[in-house]
Amino acid sequence: MYDLKGRVAVVTGSGRGIGRAIGLRFAREGCRVVFNARKRQDELDESVQQARTLGAEAVGVLADVSTIGGAGVLLQRALESFGGVDILVNNAGIGIFTPFINADEKLLERHLSSDFRSVVYTTRLFAQKMSDGGAILNISSIAGIQPMLGLSLYGAMKAAVNTLTRYLALELAPRLRVNTIAPGWVNTKLGRSMPELLGISLEDFAKKYTLTGRILEPEDVAEMAITMVRIESLTGQIIQVDSGESILGFQRQ
Ligand code: NAD
Repeated sequence: MYDLKGRVAVVTGSGRGIGRAIGLRFAREGCRVVFNARKRQDELDESVQQARTLGAEAVGVLADVSTIGGAGVLLQRALESFGGVDILVNNAGIGIFTPFINADEKLLERHLSSDFRSVVYTTRLFAQKMSDGGAILNISSIAGIQPMLGLSLYGAMKAAVNTLTRYLALELAPRLRVNTIAPGWVNTKLGRSMPELLGISLEDFAKKYTLTGRILEPEDVAEMAITMVRIESLTGQIIQVDSGESILGFQRQ
C-alpha cells in the first residue's frame, strides 16, 4: 500500500464540492494539501482552514488550470510550499447543460478548456516534477460513459479524460500511476444544478434513477480517491461511483 502520511497532494478545483472533500480526506490521512480554485478566494480560504483544523499543513492557490500559465503557477506554488508533489488530483471542471444544437463556439471552448485542457496542462507539467511512485487521479463523470440529454460536450470531454487515463497510465509507467473516478450526480453546486434543470430535485433523482436510492455525497468520491491512490497495483482504471445509476439508466422512466 502507498503510505499517504506526509505526502504532498495537490487537488485542482478544490474550493468547494468534490475537490474540497478529496483535499480534506487527504488531510485526514496526514498529507500536506495544496487546494486550488479559479476565482473564489473565500471558498479557497475555507478549504484551507478546514484542513488546518484537522491538523494538516495546507495552502491555497488561486489559479485557472485551464490555462498553461495557471497550471504552472499551481505547480510552482506547490513546490515552493512543500518542496515536491506526490499526488495530483485533476478535479477542476465545469458542466453546462445545453442541447447540442445550441452549443456554440463559446461553450465548446469553455468545455474544452475547463474539462480537458486543464487535465492535459497540469498532468504534463506536474508529471515531470512528481516523485517516483506517485499517483495521478482524474475526476471524469458517468456522462463520459453513458449519454445524457443536454450534456454532449461535457460528456465528450469526460470520455476524452477516460481515454487519456489509459494512455497516460501506459506512458508514465512505471514511475507514476494514473486512474480516474467517474461519479454519478453528486450533492454539490454543480451536481444539484443538473437534475434541477430537468425539473427534478437531486433527492427525487436519486430515488428514481439509482439502485441505492441514495444521493452521492462528495465524501463518497473522496473515500474512493484515497483508496485508488493507496492501491499500488491499480493503474489505467476508470471506476464508477454512481449508486448504480449507470446500470439502471432510465429504466424507471
Ligand atoms: P463545483 O462547481 O461544486 O466545484 C468546482 C470547483 O472547481 C470550484 O472550486 C471551482 O473554483 C473550481 N474550478 C473550476 N474550473 C476551474 C479552473 N479552470 N481552474 C481552477 N479551478 C477551477 O463542482 P463539483 O461538483 O465539485 O465537480 C468537481 C468535478 O467533478 C468536476 O470535474 C465535475 O465535472 C466532476 N463531476 C461532478 C459531478 C456532480 O454531480 N457534482 C458528477 C460527475 C463528475
